[in-house]
Amino acid sequence: MDFKINHTDITFIGSGISSSFSILNFLDLLEKKPIKKKISLTIIDKYPEFYTGIPYGIRSGYSVLLITSLKNFLPEPELSKFIKWLNSNKEQLLEEFRKEGGQLSSEWLATHKDRLKNNEWDDLFIPRRFFGCYIEEKVKSTIEKSEKENRVSVNFINSEVIDLEQNDGIYKLSLCDDKFLTSEKVIVSVGSLPTFKLWEDEDLIEKDNLMFINNPYKPSLKKVLKDLEIFLEQKKDHTINALIVGANASGLEMLYKLNDLDAISSKINKFTMLSTQGLSPDSIIDEEGKKKYQPKNLLALAEADHLTAKQIADATYKDLDLADEMKLGAASTVDIISKAFGSLLKKLDQKELKEFACLYGNDIGRRQRCAGYHYSKTIESLKEENRFEHIAGRFVDINLGANDEYFLKYLDTKSKENVISEDSVHLVFNCIGSTNFKATDIPKLLTNLIEKNLCVPNVSNIGFDVNESLEAKNNLHIMGPLLAGNIFEGNAVWHVEHCGRIIWLSNVLASKVYEYFKLLETEK
Ligand SMILES: Cc1cc2nc3c(=O)[nH]c(=O)nc-3n(C[C@H](O)[C@H](O)[C@H](O)COP(=O)(O)OP(=O)(O)OC[C@H]3O[C@@H](n4cnc5c(N)ncnc54)[C@H](O)[C@@H]3O)c2cc1C
Repeated sequence: MDFKINHTDITFIGSGISSSFSILNFLDLLEKKPIKKKISLTIIDKYPEFYTGIPYGIRSGYSVLLITSLKNFLPEPELSKFIKWLNSNKEQLLEEFRKEGGQLSSEWLATHKDRLKNNEWDDLFIPRRFFGCYIEEKVKSTIEKSEKENRVSVNFINSEVIDLEQNDGIYKLSLCDDKFLTSEKVIVSVGSLPTFKLWEDEDLIEKDNLMFINNPYKPSLKKVLKDLEIFLEQKKDHTINALIVGANASGLEMLYKLNDLDAISSKINKFTMLSTQGLSPDSIIDEEGKKKYQPKNLLALAEADHLTAKQIADATYKDLDLADEMKLGAASTVDIISKAFGSLLKKLDQKELKEFACLYGNDIGRRQRCAGYHYSKTIESLKEENRFEHIAGRFVDINLGANDEYFLKYLDTKSKENVISEDSVHLVFNCIGSTNFKATDIPKLLTNLIEKNLCVPNVSNIGFDVNESLEAKNNLHIMGPLLAGNIFEGNAVWHVEHCGRIIWLSNVLASKVYEYFKLLETEK
């Protein structure tokens, strides 16, 4: 294709579920309320796979599970549509899961045998890939139909967008292979900010006695685990210790996956997790404790006419402390506390609501992390075998010590002093989660968008400021996690990784984009 003459109406940068749902909703509007103009769409992704993004496609693979139950992952009406699809496709999907998974996957299949047989999906933490297969099939067939009926033409490009310029109301997108294209509207849907590289500048660093994995999903989890197996095979006479930095969803996923595959777990002597709090996400609801628990600090604010974001956040922290004192974990309190602070947000004016979205929403979320039972069970089993330790501290470095062995240096949370681990480490997995705009290594495209003043990071430092059309600049829209720290339809948003929020906001975006082209038509 000659990009020099290539111009499209709408270009999506990134092809994960944020762009997929936006495309589905937009094409649906075009079908229901046709406009005369045939709209040209370009979809660009740097990875050679479209529609699914990192969590639901090949990069994650078939054998990793959703971090919540299906009913908490997908809202209606999409949930019922997906379940109907699952019922018709489950044999093949479960076979792929069985083939790629190991012992924990077999256990999952055995534990949920009856539910799977009876199509009782709601409470299951299903393999994420199943949703990826569904969304891929759905977007593909919707695009096919829209193209056939002449409403749109769609073009796919596998390349990385590294720069964007605006000239006379038209955007010029530069690709990493020196090509470019122009577009009237651009939708930046590149997912969350990537993980900050903890050590050295490579995705995977291999030394004599160390394998350091900065990005477990690049090029794919399956490939990284294969490389790991080879490393472990070469070191089979060594006692191997693994370190997982971060105890969030991806840290737990890594621990689970390492223990799923016998060729890996049988060769690892000890698993250490390092996280600031030294606490793993909670999975078991304490029904009795839950009945006794009251978020009294939040409830005390119920009568106030006006509140500040800080007042609500402080009361929430106090109620979280109260739960800690009662030894009640997040699984037991998350619904109660979220409902209590959620109902107070209407007492905030716009400025305070934005402050809550930027400064407090995610911070509170960090203390409310929950996980599936299969994850906490992995930790319990390892603890019983004396093969698990959770250190409360922050990663500082990996130091080369005696006998060519590497040791962890961390800032101990309690003593606030740097400590060197007693055990040597041989495998390190960087699972600390996304970086922020203050970091020095944010992707080129985003750096350029900020430098050219096309996008302005908000106080959250993980999202861009946008207007109600989700625009950072005229015809430059943001979709997905980078919308954190904004207010839409009166609601403050912070964790736009959540699928339900992505679906809601993709609907808002699709309507705004549709209205834009509709208006152009009526103006002619
Ligand atoms: C490993 C993992 C597991 C997760 N599990 C869950 C879960 O179980 N439940 C849940 O609710 N949420 C989960 N999430 C949260 C997740 O962020 C969202 O659910 C959702 O995937 C975000 O979709 P997206 O399309 O915005 O981003 P992504 O899925 O990240 O897709 C963005 C796409 O943009 C492409 N891209 C990026 N930059 C460029 C560029 N410059 N040029 C071209 N292409 C580019 C990327 O290759 C990618 O395909 C998980 C996230 C991760 C990373």
